[in-house]
Amino acid sequence: MIQYIGIERIKEIVRRVGAAKFMEGLALEIEADYRRWHEFDKSPRHAAHSPVGVIELMPISDGRDYTFKYVNGHPKNTASGLLTVTAFGVLADVDTGYPRLISELTFTTALRTAAMSALAARWAARPSSRVMAMIGNGAQAEFQAIAFRHMLGIRELRLFDTDPRATDKLIRNLAAFGLEDVNIMRCASTAEAVRGADIVTTATADKRNAVVLTPEMIAEGMHLNAVGGDCPGKTELHADILRRADARVIVEFEPQSRIEGEVQQLDASFPVIEFSDVVLGAARARENDRQVTIFDSVGFALEDFSSLRYLERLHRDIGGSQPKLDLIPPVRDPKDLFGDLLSGREQQQVRVRAV
Ligand code: NAD
Repeated sequence: MIQYIGIERIKEIVRRVGAAKFMEGLALEIEADYRRWHEFDKSPRHAAHSPVGVIELMPISDGRDYTFKYVNGHPKNTASGLLTVTAFGVLADVDTGYPRLISELTFTTALRTAAMSALAARWAARPSSRVMAMIGNGAQAEFQAIAFRHMLGIRELRLFDTDPRATDKLIRNLAAFGLEDVNIMRCASTAEAVRGADIVTTATADKRNAVVLTPEMIAEGMHLNAVGGDCPGKTELHADILRRADARVIVEFEPQSRIEGEVQQLDASFPVIEFSDVVLGAARARENDRQVTIFDSVGFALEDFSSLRYLERLHRDIGGSQPKLDLIPPVRDPKDLFGDLLSGREQQQVRVRAV
């Protein structure tokens, strides 16, 4: 039997741990895995594009455990009442090839994306950062707001979305969650939200080269957490922001980010810093308070690997309901798979005859 974490179970786990603590714990897990970057067998994800979205497979292994995530990105989905991003994933043993866990990863992707964003900002943003602008107030937004409040000490959020109902929802959810010590301001435009911010998070969804942030909006010392540009032909930043002489661009896995990140707009010689080099001390994310740091987030398989192992541990440790899936047959003779297939049928026939 395989461990199974479905929607009710992930809600139970996050409720028990607390959303902020969950993300902080996950960020530590992700950081620890980035520190052993060279142990991983890595590849850019496999993407199947259509005119309206993308479906992606994200495999990775450290030689002991193997994981993959199935994830989609369909910006127009929300117009018909569907999520832009949904996901699930599998954790398996490399030695036997047997899967150990299958888990929902829709909530988990939002939690891990925010955990990764806050982790990158811990290394790259000025430590005195207290004000964050949030452009795009959809499904990812609460997770980002809570992670940055908890892990960075953000005390003012400046919100803007082209859909005012998304901002209404974000304000409502953050009030219900209880961010009493955070001053929340609704802004009339991206430019207004960004003015005076230490950190700018962009989490918009639009399958095109959008220009959400323009060069004149960017002030010295800012940290940009660019989450929404994560596919070929889907970006959020004007390329001249990346080209600023004082800009430092941090990516997760360079071969994937060159295809999917904001840096797809620039040629392959444009210098980027891999996050693993930052945590391993081979590069510095920021050298002074005047530089503009940019976390060009696309989401890398390692973060889902960390998430699945973190979930496996929490699932075991916190107790409660632990449903399992009968996905792999419990064969009596491994060379007699056919016999095992028939065995249920025979038993059924015997039962039918007995009736
Ligand atoms: P969503 O559709 O729920 O929300 C996106 C919001 O952006 C919407 O409310 C929309 O009105 C708003 N928006 C669109 N264009 C805008 C603009 N120009 N200015 C201001 N607001 C604008 O999507 P979501 O699930 O919150 O995801 C947001 C983005 O993050 C998507 O592009 C998704 O693909 C991406 N994402 C990235 C990662 C990662 O690891 N980097 C992980 C998950 C999602």
